[in-house]
Amino acid sequence: MSVYMGVFSVRTTYLKVYRASRIQTYSSRFRRLHSHTGPDTQRPSFGISFDIDGVLIRGGKAIGGSPQALRRLYGDDGTLKIPYIFLTNGGGVPESKRASELSELLGVQISPLQVVQGHSPFRDLVSRFGNDLIVAVGKGEPAKVMLEYGFKNVLSIDEYASFFKGIDPLSRYKNWAFKQNNEIMKNMNELDFSYNVNSDAVKGTFIVSDPVDWGRDIQVLCDILSCGGLPGKEKGHQPALYFASDDLLYQAEFPAERLGMGAFRIALENIFNSVNGIPLQYTSYGKPNPSVFKNAESVLMQVASTLNGNPDHAGGRTEKENKFRTIYMIGDNPAVDIKGATKAGYPWFSILIRTGVFKGKDNHPEYPADMVVENVEEAVEYILKKEAF
Ligand SMILES: [Mg+2]
Repeated sequence: MSVYMGVFSVRTTYLKVYRASRIQTYSSRFRRLHSHTGPDTQRPSFGISFDIDGVLIRGGKAIGGSPQALRRLYGDDGTLKIPYIFLTNGGGVPESKRASELSELLGVQISPLQVVQGHSPFRDLVSRFGNDLIVAVGKGEPAKVMLEYGFKNVLSIDEYASFFKGIDPLSRYKNWAFKQNNEIMKNMNELDFSYNVNSDAVKGTFIVSDPVDWGRDIQVLCDILSCGGLPGKEKGHQPALYFASDDLLYQAEFPAERLGMGAFRIALENIFNSVNGIPLQYTSYGKPNPSVFKNAESVLMQVASTLNGNPDHAGGRTEKENKFRTIYMIGDNPAVDIKGATKAGYPWFSILIRTGVFKGKDNHPEYPADMVVENVEEAVEYILKKEAF
């Protein structure tokens, strides 16, 4: 059973904490990178939100003229002219690392403030789970992501599983797992970890990015979630479970779409429910959730306020004057990017492109976008023409 209400109950805190911590942490560095002294009137009344996979990048390579498209948002001197952010359901690495990877790949200077990933809202759960034992799941560096957000006692699911002999009866058939396990044990010896996993219960489980070993991860998560956070013990109250996104499919290197975190959620939920006879409780973040778009608007406003080198006064404008007349969402996935922007309503304007999940000739029948173009370069061209910028 989906507990979407949970998302809304944390929304107020989410926005407040974002403003108070994340944005201010990055804004001074961002100001140094992007400040210029142009007149205040030059600040555009629109902003752009780019999905990443299938829009700017596919299979680790830039697509659709994305480096050229982004360069148009900067002045000749390399300072940012037009406020934009990346709004992705993907993740697995800290925002700071993603920003430098994107800068390298796309050839422009990107700040961590501009990177909003599926798991970015997890940082607002630090007040609830900051000192508890939690388990982070997914590709990349899920535990590092959570540690950077301020959670103090995080184990990746690889590390956690390594404490329980025989928890994955198939591990001996997984050739890759031997090498991985040796590395994990080495890291664990260096880790200052004071918990006893046999008596200290896991309080929260976080699916940070796409799980790598579905079979093992579903087994271990079922153990944690069925037995009150203590695998192998008696059945007990289900610990909290959060998903960074709920995408059923996404477009990667392979011609046909791949199974995303939403597919993993369906698998875990069905198995948990069949085994336990009670519905799995969870909260999913990510697009198309309206709270993601609300937050994106507030992050974009912060980016915009740094353009004139004065983030505290935002050019002397009131908050109302600061609001965008239009925010463009450029995405490849109708059910995620376009549905989300449409649900978010004013001031969002959706642009669907054909370099990823969507490949149709006309608009998408179920989630039609405000505009359909070929690729991201055409999308940016359209925006700049329309805004006469
Ligand atoms: Mg995409």
